[in-house]
Amino acid sequence: MKKKQRKQPTADLSGLPLTKNETVEITIEDISHEGNGVGRYEGYTLFVPGALAGERVRVRATKLKKQFGYARLLEILEPSLARTEPSCPLYARCGGCGIQHMEYAAQLEFKRKLVEDNLRRIGKIEGVPVHPTIGMENPWRYRNKAQVPIGEQVGGLIGGFYAARSHEIIDMEACLIQHETGDDVIAHVKKIAWKHGVRAYQEETHTGLLRHVVTKVGFATGDVMIVLVTNGDKIPNQDELVAELAQAVPGVKSIVQNVNTKRTNVIFGDVTRVLWGEEYIYDTIGDITFAISARSFYQVNPVQTERLYGKALEYAALTGEESVIDAYCGIGTISLFLAQKAKQVFGVEIVPDAIEDAKRNAQLNGIENATFAVGEAEVVIPAWYEEGNRADVIVVDPPRKGCDEALLQTILDMKPDRVVYVSCNPSTLARDLRFLEEGGYKTVEVQPVDMFPHTTHVENVALLVRSETDAETR
Ligand code: SAH
Repeated sequence: MKKKQRKQPTADLSGLPLTKNETVEITIEDISHEGNGVGRYEGYTLFVPGALAGERVRVRATKLKKQFGYARLLEILEPSLARTEPSCPLYARCGGCGIQHMEYAAQLEFKRKLVEDNLRRIGKIEGVPVHPTIGMENPWRYRNKAQVPIGEQVGGLIGGFYAARSHEIIDMEACLIQHETGDDVIAHVKKIAWKHGVRAYQEETHTGLLRHVVTKVGFATGDVMIVLVTNGDKIPNQDELVAELAQAVPGVKSIVQNVNTKRTNVIFGDVTRVLWGEEYIYDTIGDITFAISARSFYQVNPVQTERLYGKALEYAALTGEESVIDAYCGIGTISLFLAQKAKQVFGVEIVPDAIEDAKRNAQLNGIENATFAVGEAEVVIPAWYEEGNRADVIVVDPPRKGCDEALLQTILDMKPDRVVYVSCNPSTLARDLRFLEEGGYKTVEVQPVDMFPHTTHVENVALLVRSETDAETR
């Protein structure tokens, strides 16, 4: 049944110092966590995408609310020293990267400060060192995975990204944050598939075949996997098409079809079949080898993952005697790192397939002291505790929403010597650190790591010890 449309009450915007579409000059004072410039016009806060702190800019008000508004950058009157020309010609239209206009060194400091601000504002944590963000020597071409929607125009297939706030596909030859092989594969798929009569999927009519091309590259091994996501089973001239594709790009070890016939924005469907080569490709991070299938989760920046998890391992300060819990373990990346130095590691993860991968990866590396369980961390770990189990070190690596309070409470009850908190969201990190601090833990230090250069994302690893334990003894 259709809901009756109710008219939105229009907010009373009288009394604001400017009106919609008005052009004003302001000074940008700060950068928001989304990477927007923040300035004030006669005391009224304006968010300006693309502007940097310290800049004098001319802007046009685009959207006004009672407390704050948004404005479009028209002209930079006095640029910041941190401003740089974005390397990608599609930067303005894509939206995949948010801060390419900021020098890389400034990006790293922006992220460090963001974490410090969150700790202070949300966590009421001050005086704890937030170290300089660990960046990349070369912050380009770092992603090992590309997922590209396919469309068509007169004479061929196109593939790239959706234009902002729409489902119009913009063709792209190169994405500077993805591995070159990804670009290469996609260029070949467009040509070879079109030649064999493959049509692109059309969302509106739910017709056509090729929806997405997904590529995965093992940085350490050079292995390449190509996944063709199709709206239906049958690929025209499948054998020739696949044989040509396998020849076109060096390193191809696996070509896989995933069938998705649903009307949905979700990329993958339920059926996956190998068309050519192997079901898995391989990559190594540190000393650990990982098997990667079409559907398995794998960290997208393997270079920085090694640094992030290396830090987690350092903070865990293992001697070989410890029992360690790795909550939210995914495919066991951290668990397997830890297992090399601990007596025993117990991983918990909610997605059954990820646990299958974790077990396979443990076996692949001959690691026998890591055990994995499927379930919610906030249910499984309290149950372990009830049974009388204890861990010396607990590592958590939760999704953006942070840890469930039941899990944090169990950590307080279990009293591990150390808690290592890996986080992809500084605000929930700050909230959870507050909870642990109130329960008797002390945050010793926080290390931001740049896993996603040119975007506003920042990963952190934080070390907590029990307040009674001397932080110096670690
Ligand atoms: N360290 C992992 C990645 C962690 S990402 C790795 O490198 O593989 C966060 C993980 O938490 C995801 O795999 C997600 O499936 C899992 N997850 C989300 N909610 C959960 C919950 N309540 N209990 C356990 N795992 C959960």
